[in-house]
Amino acid sequence: MKRVVVLGSTGSVGGSTLDLVSRNPDHFEVVALTGQRRLDELVKQALQFRPRFVALGDPALHNALAEALAGTGIACGAGPQALVDAATLDSDLVMAAIVGAAGLPPTLAAIAEGRTVALANKESLVCAGAIVMAAAAASGSTLLPVDSEHNAIFQVFAEHQRARVARLILTASGGPFRSSDYEAMAQATPAQAVAHPNWSMGAKISVDSATMMNKGLELIEAHHLFAMPEPMIEILVHPQSVVHSLVEYVDGSVLAQLGSPDMRVPIANALAWPDRMATPAARLDLAAIGRLTFEAPDPQRFPALTLARHALQRGGAAPTILNAANEMAVAGFLGGRVGFLDIAGLVDRALETLVGDHDAESLEAVMTADRATRKWAAQAMASL
Ligand code: NAD
Ligand code: MG
Repeated sequence: MKRVVVLGSTGSVGGSTLDLVSRNPDHFEVVALTGQRRLDELVKQALQFRPRFVALGDPALHNALAEALAGTGIACGAGPQALVDAATLDSDLVMAAIVGAAGLPPTLAAIAEGRTVALANKESLVCAGAIVMAAAAASGSTLLPVDSEHNAIFQVFAEHQRARVARLILTASGGPFRSSDYEAMAQATPAQAVAHPNWSMGAKISVDSATMMNKGLELIEAHHLFAMPEPMIEILVHPQSVVHSLVEYVDGSVLAQLGSPDMRVPIANALAWPDRMATPAARLDLAAIGRLTFEAPDPQRFPALTLARHALQRGGAAPTILNAANEMAVAGFLGGRVGFLDIAGLVDRALETLVGDHDAESLEAVMTADRATRKWAAQAMASL
């Protein structure tokens, strides 16, 4: 029996995690669940999985949550500390599936406690990668990548041949605007941007896929998870999303992991690790697919890729600023306040304006840079 905490259980990755848990009741026991504002959904999950503790990020919902769970014997909390409490409850695996830098404090707390962490929350690595990796090294925490590309690399990365790895190749679907012209992208609506051709995901990561900032964030994520220098990580557009990423070795061998585009495959890989478990994901039928295609990304239409690469090269607080500005701009776009092309524009300006004033030497410095960027971005969007 693995005791599992699911941070962000009301989201897309969290829901897929619980789907797998519910199909394997003899192997997993849920000990804590967290959401942000979707109280009804969290309560429904709590009644089904009977965890010891549930938490909502929004402190204003504490009383309503306590009322809804009265008499069930399930303890509850709300607010940032309650998320940390859920993350650090005694468990065998923590699924870190909160979206955004909001996931950093609970994810880092679980890592500092030495927990095995299935990491979906890529923003925590982008925002504070060096701190997160140092905390894992210090506590002995095992990080299991859940992002499909990083999980693919994890499956084919021979740790004992680390010095013989020549390149990591991250594949990207190219998103809904892969073959759109620039003028059409300028007019893109939130509904068009979240309509991903292959994957069903939360709204924020869907917009990131449309700008390809998602692949930029994943570049930074891969750099930290696999301790690979930036020039050794390449991005390759692969519209079918079947080859989930590749590792090239010095002898010219290229190893890849393939599968149908269903997040339950990498989630199951992390949940069952070091074993494997069955999933209901569609079996890969390569004869039916027939053709797999690959192309170089277009940096002109997808400037986010270059912004992320430069932020990683620059180091310090640049990735923190990149991430915070992107979160703000994506929220602004989803709220109808800024256009699609403004997202990368705002990130670019945030980096230009703020990068000289901040560092990422400590968690406090990272949080300061994150807050300053959000404040700057709110003002910048208001005057667009
Ligand atoms: P989602 O929006 O569907 O769910 C996000 C979860 O985080 C929800 O449970 C929500 O309640 C919670 N949350 C949101 N804001 C919060 C806050 N301020 N404090 C506490 N909790 C908060 O997102 P998702 O698509 O499931 O993605 C989750 C993470 O996994 C992201 O970092 C994303 O980049 C990564 N990821 C997702 C996919 C996917 O297929 N969805 C694939 C790879 C990586
Ligand atoms: Mg991914």
